[in-house]
Amino acid sequence: MECRFCKGICVKKGKRKHIQRFRCAKCGRYQQMVYTKTLIPEEKYQWVKQLNNEVCGISSISRLLEISKSSVQRLIERIASKLKMPEIFEIGQSYEIDELRTYCGNKKNECWIMFAINKATGTVVDFCVGRRTKENLKRITDSVLKLNPKRVFTDGLNIYASLIPLAAHKVFDYCTNKIERKNLSLRTHLKRISCKKICFNKSESMLNDCVKIYLAA
Ligand SMILES: [Zn+2]
Repeated sequence: MECRFCKGICVKKGKRKHIQRFRCAKCGRYQQMVYTKTLIPEEKYQWVKQLNNEVCGISSISRLLEISKSSVQRLIERIASKLKMPEIFEIGQSYEIDELRTYCGNKKNECWIMFAINKATGTVVDFCVGRRTKENLKRITDSVLKLNPKRVFTDGLNIYASLIPLAAHKVFDYCTNKIERKNLSLRTHLKRISCKKICFNKSESMLNDCVKIYLAA
């Protein structure tokens, strides 16, 4: 038999569930002559991405695409690992930073989605998922300060005062309207963070991946 990966020569090497397995003499990988399960087609990758952004949880994606829940999870992880936040080259703009509260596992275990957007265009500069600590918020403010902002609008959270230079920092009522509206979109488009539902996050990494797919796409 010919190796599926390197076209080397394979020799018989044991059985698994009564099926003969082969091992490549060149690259050492195990394989079998025929596989009963078919690979997930490439177009379903695209569907996972779109359904995730259209109020579908893992269970509903699994039912709609007829693949197992664990496959959906694996696909989400794989898609998110390949995605990158678009690079932004601009200076002297105004930005808004805000946090969105949700939870992982149970309601006592708080988890926040923190992100920054350009006030004029609405493009997402950077985001972070985790606890609302100084380190996590510093990641967001650093990527905003890198763009040399004219003004940075935030809510009254006292951590910001130590992270953003006083000259650029602005805090007043209704100054974060644009990002609060974006929060509403996030809550309606992602099933796992919407309010009044029985769906919720089980892990922080999966939340991070789903938010990344939504924001980077
Ligand atoms: Zn091989």
